[in-house]
Amino acid sequence: MLNYNCIIKEDHLDIRKLSENVKLPLSKEDEKTLLEMHEYLVNGYDEEKAAKLNIRPGVGIAAPQIDVLKKMFVIIAYDEHDELHEYGVINPKIISHSEELTHLPTGEGCLSVDREVKGLIHRPRKITVEFDSYDFETGKVSHVRMRLKDYIAVVFQHENDHLYGKLFFDHINKENPFYVPANSKPIHFDFEDEVE
Ligand code: ZN
Repeated sequence: MLNYNCIIKEDHLDIRKLSENVKLPLSKEDEKTLLEMHEYLVNGYDEEKAAKLNIRPGVGIAAPQIDVLKKMFVIIAYDEHDELHEYGVINPKIISHSEELTHLPTGEGCLSVDREVKGLIHRPRKITVEFDSYDFETGKVSHVRMRLKDYIAVVFQHENDHLYGKLFFDHINKENPFYVPANSKPIHFDFEDEVE
């Protein structure tokens, strides 16, 4: 079972490496990686379990973060309207994106970055993505194409960056970390919650 010690941090060389495509049909080993990442996120939503198992909660985790350099990640996140998005993502491609940008007013966090980094990350507000989707209930894989926007689009892009060795703070403007381009609108949440 994964805990926070299993997650490689920003000083680990592999966090900057390019991940490989996942071969389909899914091998038992790759399936296990997906299931373990899923379990980590699920346990993170249970405060008691998280404390007991040493889990830092998160809304997404990518395979390279547990030192498996393959193009896979899992998202379990509630969007700005409190709707749940749960995805097992294999070999994702962002096939188009809006010119319009968005950002989280509190910045982004990352399980591999064990410190607070101040600054804003502006990302396309809407993206169209394609990936092989792993269904955690049935274990089936199917090719999907979907449009994502706002918070879930941000989470998807953050996780996708990990597959290319990129970390969120690479996107922060160095001279002016809180700079807001005219085409970037903040994400507003309907509810109060910690965002990471
Ligand atoms: Zn991250």
